[in-house]
Amino acid sequence: MSFSASVLTLYPEMFPGALGLSLAGRALEAGTWSLQAIQIRDFTTDKHRTVDDTPAGGGAGMVMRADVLARAIDHASPLGDPRPRLLMSPRGKPLTQVRVRELAAGPGAVILCGRFEGVDQRLIEARGLEEVSIGDFILSGGEPAALVLLDAVVRLLPGVMGNAVSGEEESFENGLLEHPHYTRPQEFEGREIPEVLISGNHKKIAAWRREQSEGLTKERRPDLLGTQPLVK
Ligand code: SAH
Repeated sequence: MSFSASVLTLYPEMFPGALGLSLAGRALEAGTWSLQAIQIRDFTTDKHRTVDDTPAGGGAGMVMRADVLARAIDHASPLGDPRPRLLMSPRGKPLTQVRVRELAAGPGAVILCGRFEGVDQRLIEARGLEEVSIGDFILSGGEPAALVLLDAVVRLLPGVMGNAVSGEEESFENGLLEHPHYTRPQEFEGREIPEVLISGNHKKIAAWRREQSEGLTKERRPDLLGTQPLVK
């Protein structure tokens, strides 16, 4: 069974977007994963096809209606669908490589993209949505966040990345940021490739890379130090 993504959105034209190209695009064509973009507006019942309304209690902006979204979710993900239901949301748990790996190992995901001020809280509770954030900043809608999440997941699906080893040496995979990379030419604007990397001494190279990783992590992301390796 391949990984199946259903995305609920007011802008289905945004999909597959960037995921139709490169690694993800080839994997989509090959059937390694599938993507269904569902227009939330198709689940309205009034003649204006209204998906939002003013916030209870007043204030700026509009809120997506629970009843319309519930019909869309129940259509995309009927009872017994084993896929987790995600809501892209700045209030969510920040997305990590650990969660990305878990999702990639599962059957897929149903992803709701918010717009306006967000969605009615009762919908989140009634449909058991897991709120997922891609960082501490505000997007205008959940669609770019859904594309980010799916990009991270799809590259881990079996057969998608040419060189499987490169996935395991990536930043975060061992709880550290990755070491710097170099390639030819040997000299660029007076800067040489570090001597050790052309020494051919694999033990020394590994030690140098480890040292660089630790140094960078200490400097840029001290919060990562002391955390468990992210992959056993
Ligand atoms: N009023 C909300 C922000 C709404 S932004 C608040 O202050 O929390 C509109 C939509 O964009 C959200 O419903 C969500 O689906 C999406 N979005 C915005 N920022 C996001 C982020 N950092 N991660 C994931 N989704 C985000």
